[in-house]
Amino acid sequence: MTKSANRDEAASRRAALTSRLIAEKLDSFLITSPVNVRYLTGFTGSNGLLWLTPTSARLFTDPRYTTQAAAECSAAISIVRKGPLLNEAAARLKRAKPRKLGFEKSHLSYESYAKLIEELPKSTELVPLDGWVEEARRVKSASEIERIQESVVTNSLAFDRALRKVRPKMTESELAAEIDYQQRKLGAEGTAFSTIVAAGDHSALPHARPRAEAIGLNRLLLLDMGAQQHGYMSDMTRTVVVGKATRRMRQLYQAVLEAQLEAIDAIRPGVLCAEIDRRARITLKRHGLDKQFIHSTGHGLGLEIHESPRLGRTETLRLAPGMVITIEPGVYLPGEGGIRIEDTVLVTESGCDVLTPTPKDLLVI
Ligand code: ZN
Ligand code: ZN
Repeated sequence: MTKSANRDEAASRRAALTSRLIAEKLDSFLITSPVNVRYLTGFTGSNGLLWLTPTSARLFTDPRYTTQAAAECSAAISIVRKGPLLNEAAARLKRAKPRKLGFEKSHLSYESYAKLIEELPKSTELVPLDGWVEEARRVKSASEIERIQESVVTNSLAFDRALRKVRPKMTESELAAEIDYQQRKLGAEGTAFSTIVAAGDHSALPHARPRAEAIGLNRLLLLDMGAQQHGYMSDMTRTVVVGKATRRMRQLYQAVLEAQLEAIDAIRPGVLCAEIDRRARITLKRHGLDKQFIHSTGHGLGLEIHESPRLGRTETLRLAPGMVITIEPGVYLPGEGGIRIEDTVLVTESGCDVLTPTPKDLLVI
């Protein structure tokens, strides 16, 4: 992607949002989530705020980002030299006197909200908006899918390389560090989230933190890892065995794999997200393991590691082409261990593409 293509894409995203503003009779929208600002402007700095109207777009940022904002961002730019960005935006809004000002209800602090109330004229109505940009982000463009795919490939290569270094005496933390190192060496900006490495009974915690304890022998080893590349995330979990796998380990593994494949098999446009979750759950139920499956089946990902949709029991959204989701059923047996298998999957016109290239047969190393 060239810089100008990035700018064009950001501009067309703003145009789509602007149509919604007009339809809902809003004359201003203040975007305060950094990742939403990035989506709508291309600006990757950590401190940015976007003021969108039906005819204009203005990014507020601080002097550290003067050069970067000019290079990345297609909107007008205000460099705020003193105080919070919101104060400057509020001062400008005060002069513009919007009738209806939308704001991101999940991303505006109470302090900022109070400031807007204090500054803006009584005639301005503040309208809380719920996930407008997140909704737009749900379906990915071709260039976003390309970047996710790159991130997925990096992640799987990092897995292969790190796995070659595994020894029973290695600690969980050492292996996590090796994974993070390989991600960066392969071109990632960093990890998508804190890498999970959990051996033996520790793997029974779905979000275990790596410890300074040896991986050990003849035990389950759960690795949940993701890369961030060109801003986009990937997410994969594999559970392997170092040494020898017991019959019980193999049985549990097969049950989880079956649930994962069943869920993937059901993915196509129009299907309820809750239905995908149900598929994984009923498969595990056949193995008497549904009670050990204690989280939802997956989640959307993109600029963030957890995005809409959520593939849980109560999700009423339907899948659409261009959504990128994870499928990650797991079973967790306290005192014994846990198994999870996770891929990143693209919803296509006719079904889905599993983007993750890493094989899923039980790997015994
Ligand atoms: Zn994961
Ligand atoms: Zn995940």
